[in-house]
Amino acid sequence: MFYNARRAMKPEKSASPHPQPVDALVWPRFSGVPTFMRLPHIPRAEELDIAILGIPFDGGTTYRPGARFGPRNIRVQSAMIRPWNPVLEVNPFQKWRIADFGDLSVNPLSIEDTYGRITDQLSEVLRAKARPVSVGGDHSILLPILRAVHRFEGPVGLVQLDAHGDTWGGYFGSPHSHGTPVRYAVEEGLIAEGCGLQVGLRGQVYSDGDFEFARKHRIQIVTADELHRHGSGPVKRLARKLRNLPVYLTLDIDVVDPAFAPGTGTPQVGGLSSAQVLDLLHCFQGLQLVGCDLVEVSPPYDSGEITSLLAANLLFELLCLF
Ligand code: MN
Ligand code: MN
Repeated sequence: MFYNARRAMKPEKSASPHPQPVDALVWPRFSGVPTFMRLPHIPRAEELDIAILGIPFDGGTTYRPGARFGPRNIRVQSAMIRPWNPVLEVNPFQKWRIADFGDLSVNPLSIEDTYGRITDQLSEVLRAKARPVSVGGDHSILLPILRAVHRFEGPVGLVQLDAHGDTWGGYFGSPHSHGTPVRYAVEEGLIAEGCGLQVGLRGQVYSDGDFEFARKHRIQIVTADELHRHGSGPVKRLARKLRNLPVYLTLDIDVVDPAFAPGTGTPQVGGLSSAQVLDLLHCFQGLQLVGCDLVEVSPPYDSGEITSLLAANLLFELLCLF
């Protein structure tokens, strides 16, 4: 609102000042048009180092729908975010040029068409050398995002925080759903061999064969049970092995226990607390992040908006990892 649009037009990436959240001492946090963290809306990737963008698509959902409303509600709940992270000692808005890029165009009636749209639009963002922080949407959006990333980075390391491995095959005769993106990403060579790390997996599966794909492709798994028993130390050690290549991080909110994040499509008990997931994210400091996403927030199933509030805070933590 008081943001100087002309300054933001400067093509020089190092130009200062960076876009900043609206001053809460001038405009109260509950006022104005909601954007992520009250940042300016700048739909021009060439002006940004990091583009926070919404992907409101939930056509890959197999159980409880509603993640299409995730970006909008997380924007509203992000109004309380303040810029300084006292744990990581960083203000990401001073360090990088970050803004709300707006939402990508999706087709709610076609997953194939949506996949093409996401890959094309994300490619434009990456071509402009902005790193995408995408807000879903269900987890099916991961595959077209990784396809775009692959165009510019080649195979990347993948860090996935999730209750589920998402390495299943098709569903009802359709190849793609929110339970399949990691399988296709591996099969299409988008993830570097032996450089996948899944954290927080738990709950019932169809059979032990469900883990066969991960074993075959040397995807490292740290289960929620192991996290509860041993803390985040083992994750830190595995994350260190990914330091020498570009890494993409994907955060499925259902890695968090439904007591803390009920607003999601496929809830699974025995998950992490809010505090645990915040701590877990700090394990990934120092990685060469080329992008990340936060998916599977379904506001219609939320309670007191706690899931969207947590998601907004996790988004901020993700920004602090760059
Ligand atoms: Mn999941
Ligand atoms: Mn998932």
